[in-house]
Amino acid sequence: LSEKLQATLDDVRQRGTLTESDVNAAMREIRLALLEADVNFKVVKSFTNTVKERCLGADVLGQLNPGQQVVGIVHEELVSLLGGESIELEFSPRPPTVILMSGLQGSGKTTAVAKLAKHLKEEKGSSVALAACDVQRPAAVEQLRLVGEQAGATVYDRGTELPAVDVARWALDQAKQDGKDVLIVDTAGRLHVDAELMAELVAIRDAVRPQTVLLTVDAMTGQDAVNVAEQFSAAAGFDGVVMSKLDGDARGGAALSVKAVTGKPILFASTGEKLGDFQVFHPDRMAQRILGMGDVLSLVESAQRQFDEKDAKDLERKFRRNEFTLEDFLKQMKMIRRMGPLSKVLGMLPGVGAQLDGANIDDREMDRVEAIILSMTVKERRSPELIKGSRRLRIAKGSGTSVQQVNQLVKNFQQMRKVMKQMTKGGMRDMAGLMGQ
Ligand code: GDP
Ligand code: MG
Repeated sequence: LSEKLQATLDDVRQRGTLTESDVNAAMREIRLALLEADVNFKVVKSFTNTVKERCLGADVLGQLNPGQQVVGIVHEELVSLLGGESIELEFSPRPPTVILMSGLQGSGKTTAVAKLAKHLKEEKGSSVALAACDVQRPAAVEQLRLVGEQAGATVYDRGTELPAVDVARWALDQAKQDGKDVLIVDTAGRLHVDAELMAELVAIRDAVRPQTVLLTVDAMTGQDAVNVAEQFSAAAGFDGVVMSKLDGDARGGAALSVKAVTGKPILFASTGEKLGDFQVFHPDRMAQRILGMGDVLSLVESAQRQFDEKDAKDLERKFRRNEFTLEDFLKQMKMIRRMGPLSKVLGMLPGVGAQLDGANIDDREMDRVEAIILSMTVKERRSPELIKGSRRLRIAKGSGTSVQQVNQLVKNFQQMRKVMKQMTKGGMRDMAGLMGQ
């Protein structure tokens, strides 16, 4: 998903102005990219419609940085599609809180049970017990014992001697007796959803009355994951999803569709074979990952905070008329610096983040640039072509730099001004490039 979508968004982002047909073309690409990522087609359709309406409605067209705003809207809508805010597990006022784990065979249930136990132990300080209710195979019980121990949880198991429902009931009694905060019930899965599996799950659910029923969904199965979720939803019901194996596949189509199709949020992300590879699911981080870009939202937000619209318009006019001076530049630079350290600001620019890896971005460089400009007279700042000979020496002395460095700055500035005049788009990046020299 990422590459294709990123190419599309990069293209949109580069545009100085956008027309409705640009927006349409971008939506077409986004639609294709999402379908290719195995996102449910109904979800894709409503998603692109919403984004398009917002783009056209938000008066994005003809504005200074319409492309960036479109990208911001795509990101926001992705986050909302993924569930908006992170959601917390509910705890019972009368412990133990019971969590029932359901899912197909191999989806990662048992692994998720142990990971969740470790997570609750570490994050909430809960005492956690696990109930071994996958009694289909002795190996399943053995597996839970092993990972449960690694997670520091007590495992209640009766081997495979009792029916799953009885084990569940017994384990709940044990947990009460032992004063456990949380009991997580591991269950059997099948390769496909069938009546027997659902009957067993419903029986266990009714026996232990869980606070939360979780469904583990294998992210690598794409569209199939959505079908499975729908079937579980209809037959036994669930409250939230553990999206497993998110490390395996970058497509993320399953994650995108599950919330939209079932209405149930993704609570946790399972991202590897180790017990620590488990996180609270953050829709905004997932959206970023899907978009394969830097933290666009933060950038748009801090940019919006720093530049008010009038400033932006003034700036654009100055660029166009070649009236942009070192004084303006200083002002802009200060504004950008208020957004954070340069490496962080640049890192937030889409497509720049990766290129910055290992690059040596030095904020002291910016201090120097600032010092040089501050050592100039207002007249010099407005007409940098005046800066020659003795003026140059004075500025270098005043700013504690060398004549070469002053020269370089003036040259870069004039170069930038030329480029800016031609295209106001991507202005900030060019300016940042100059500052980094
Ligand atoms: P269950 O049958 O639903 O209980 O599934 P298991 O928990 O036994 O997991 C099935 C396989 O998937 C095991 O080999 C796990 O190690 C693997 N697995 C589970 N979760 C993840 C994950 O998040 N990432 C990766 N790479 N493998 C996982
Ligand atoms: Mg299992």
